[in-house]
Amino acid sequence: ATTVERIAAGEVVERPASVVKELVENSLDAGASRVDVTVDGGGTDRIVVSDDGEGMSEADVRAAVQKHTTSKISDIEDLESGVATLGFRGEALHTIGAVSRTTITTRPQDGDEEATELRLEGGEVTRVGPAGRPPGTTVEVEDLFYNTPARRKYLKTDSTEFGHVNRVVTRYALANPDVAVSLTHDDREVFATTGQGDLQGTLLSVYGREVAEAMIPVDSEGEAVGRVHGYVSDPETTRASREYVSTFVNGRYVSDSLLREAVVSAYGGQLAADRYPFAVLFVEVPAGEVDVNVHPRKMEVRFGESETVKREVESAVEDALLDAGL
Ligand code: ADP
Ligand code: MG
Repeated sequence: ATTVERIAAGEVVERPASVVKELVENSLDAGASRVDVTVDGGGTDRIVVSDDGEGMSEADVRAAVQKHTTSKISDIEDLESGVATLGFRGEALHTIGAVSRTTITTRPQDGDEEATELRLEGGEVTRVGPAGRPPGTTVEVEDLFYNTPARRKYLKTDSTEFGHVNRVVTRYALANPDVAVSLTHDDREVFATTGQGDLQGTLLSVYGREVAEAMIPVDSEGEAVGRVHGYVSDPETTRASREYVSTFVNGRYVSDSLLREAVVSAYGGQLAADRYPFAVLFVEVPAGEVDVNVHPRKMEVRFGESETVKREVESAVEDALLDAGL
């Protein structure tokens, strides 16, 4: 990879969690019903994302690692009408490959083509050959930033990096209860969801029994927002950090202080100081009322009528707490 490419890679791939995010999005875009994520050393040593999605032919995978290759946009109208798939810029595999040792093993669902293994080292394709595996794709990323020492030095401890990875995988697991998502760190399984489609079961798998049992269902319709649904915890079951308030707008994770404040204020002072509830809330907003493409890499949104959205989300949570007698 050229120096320019390596620097450009830094914008897409900042840390192991960004690699995991891109790979998991690709698996979901490929229609996977299971996605297994394995990381070692917080992801700095090794990241493996394996799926049972549509897979790739040898020609597909050769193309996929080239710059700006995407199978997801057929014309400019797709871009303008709002793209349904998660990734659409055709950059992730190329840039991840430029700053690591990456092996892709893939086999298409369709036809009778065998599996292909493609290896990349610092952006160079070093091997393409036959392999054995069932239909689907496995991407293994080793030695992230081995050829960009400045960026490698910037990585935090394994446990900090793993914390970021865990948050990313947790979000996708919560947003996709119909996909079996697992996360393993240094040979220890952190969680595994069943993919059976119910959010409550997914919450149990991800956060454990104590939290799942403290969860109260939310389901309301608003005027500016459409439906607000999901779960929030009772005011006793909290954590000190805000990351346990997970909000999704039209199915996509967003980190939005307005929505977080709406959830917290619904508790009306029942929460201990500096404590956040567990919340997993899906807010469905008419497409014209929200801009989700503010920045494709950041998880921000912009609402047309933000004060109304806030009020309606807050009252949806209030109603749920009232119904539960809290
Ligand atoms: P983008 O997702 O923006 O299209 P990527 O670089 O992430 O770009 O991926 C390039 C292409 O490689 C995708 O468009 C897709 O065709 C293919 N691809 C990547 N990951 C997978 C996967 N897990 N299963 C099937 N195809 C994949
Ligand atoms: Mg992608």
